[in-house]
Amino acid sequence: MLRDWSRRLCGVALDLLAPRGCGSCGERCAGDRAFCVPCSAGLVRPPVLTREDPPHLVVSAAPYDGPMGRAIRNLKYFGRSDLAEPLGGLLAEAARASAPGLGTRAVPVPLHPRRLSERGYNQSALLCNAVARRLDIVSRGRALGRFRNTTSQARMGRVQRLHNVNGSIHVRRPDDLRGRRVLLVDDVFTTGATAEACIRAIMEAGGSVTMVLVLARADRSQPVAASSAEKVPKPRPG
Ligand SMILES: [Zn+2]
Repeated sequence: MLRDWSRRLCGVALDLLAPRGCGSCGERCAGDRAFCVPCSAGLVRPPVLTREDPPHLVVSAAPYDGPMGRAIRNLKYFGRSDLAEPLGGLLAEAARASAPGLGTRAVPVPLHPRRLSERGYNQSALLCNAVARRLDIVSRGRALGRFRNTTSQARMGRVQRLHNVNGSIHVRRPDDLRGRRVLLVDDVFTTGATAEACIRAIMEAGGSVTMVLVLARADRSQPVAASSAEKVPKPRPG
């Protein structure tokens, strides 16, 4: 807890000393924006993806390749938790534009506690809070949990991922979700195995999922954080 607080204080102090800039290129940009003007030009919202078994919509704010992919890696691996707020704004715009019924609860895909303590934050929970505030729905950041650590998923295929996450997601607080329509929030959608596990857990608790809302869908044939020439720490699930 103390470490979390000191981390947050350092982040706030850094923001005060020097605005941290565009999530992709680092250039100066307006404080409430995730991207500078040139990088924003590369953000074209992809079409909504419809998936079966269980049926769900996947709504994404931007393509993974390009500025959004770089912003996600900065958010997850390089401590740019400040990006969650403006990126949450892009998620809210995508949600409003894509489907009429958003639900009454926003829930993030959970991170394993060990990953949480390594990173200091669950980027999906930060995004979930930011988007829920903008959509005027209730955020339930701890509604879902992860039972056991899953092996790094970044280079796995869909079947391997399903096997890896199957049973690892559980509903911590069923009363929060029973009878509720839920917006499931994550940073990246790759094979969809983690989202499917979350949806099944929510359904077992008596809720339903209106959409999976993500910053970007990564090409399934591409490893999530290893496709760029940038030096990136070893990718981790979640
Ligand atoms: Zn930029």
